Amino acid sequence: MHTSRLFIAIALFCCACAGSQSIEIVEKPIVFDDERRALSLAYMKEHYGIEAEEPGITPRMIVVHWTAIPTLEGSFNAFYESRLPSFRTGISSGGALNVSVPYLIDQDGTIYQLMSDTLMGRHVIGLNHTAIGIENVGNGEDTPLTEAQYEANKKLIRYLTKKYDIDYLIGHHEYQRFKNHPLWLEQDPDYLTEKSDPGDAFMQRLRNDLGSLDFKPLPEEETQAIRQGIVGQVLWVEGNQMPGIGQSHKSPKPKGIQRKVYVYNVLQRDELEYEAGFFKKPKQPAVKVVNSDSSGHFSVALDTGSYSLLVEEPQGLYANLFDGNGYVQVTKVEKDSVNKVELKIDYKASY
Ligand SMILES: [Zn+2]
Repeated sequence: MHTSRLFIAIALFCCACAGSQSIEIVEKPIVFDDERRALSLAYMKEHYGIEAEEPGITPRMIVVHWTAIPTLEGSFNAFYESRLPSFRTGISSGGALNVSVPYLIDQDGTIYQLMSDTLMGRHVIGLNHTAIGIENVGNGEDTPLTEAQYEANKKLIRYLTKKYDIDYLIGHHEYQRFKNHPLWLEQDPDYLTEKSDPGDAFMQRLRNDLGSLDFKPLPEEETQAIRQGIVGQVLWVEGNQMPGIGQSHKSPKPKGIQRKVYVYNVLQRDELEYEAGFFKKPKQPAVKVVNSDSSGHFSVALDTGSYSLLVEEPQGLYANLFDGNGYVQVTKVEKDSVNKVELKIDYKASY
């Protein structure tokens, strides 16, 4: 009896090792003192209406970020103090609690734990009470996220989904899609920031590779509710669109249609591979990918700049408008303005 119990104990211990797949997490604690505790409780009360003894969270979501700071120490220092530094004026209206997350991944893939993952970090408006944050050292420009980081994110997310009942895996840039979701508790509807980290390419790849973890799909993107960017409609056009004399039948009207719209930094026709009426996806990642709804409408918040919009068809990406410089379906987004576009898919139409 004695021996067999010992055997079971050893067997269980080994299973635990195999289950965690030898994830290595380095402790690198930030300050979590009485002040941070008090500021966290005040934040929970003010923003979420939660009155608690401990600033704990119920993890249902993982939010992936980049720090927009190119070094580990610089990123770590940004989270270290309990109080928000005075230069963070963009979010100071949200309170004095400094930003933080439990996990920080360096460019070489090393995973650091900064605080307990069941304490609340301030890293995503509306959802901090339920979201475990993973920050990655880097940004979208001169210090892009690395393959080592990507692999570490995958491993850490797997590990966290075993530890907690996680429903959603999201990128910080996607958080506003939860504005009407029951998990969204922010009381001030104007307390919002536009985020681009870590981008659709990184998140789509993660969700593809981690498909077996069965995360819930994100809420549909709200249309028309943007301050700067592009709103539009994807239209399916087919049949004879020539207004003929004495035409006996009416040509089918263009109709709104659900499609994936790829938004790229402006593309020139010549730099794309083209085959039988469709473009291949360019090497550069899309700035954003959005779905139009069943009536074809979509909206996408964007930084100022010029963008090419292409629609995904089974055969490849489709675009049919090219300006004098050969730019593909180009739209310029200016400060605080929303541009309207129509994207026609008309390769089955004749004019
Ligand atoms: Zn972020």
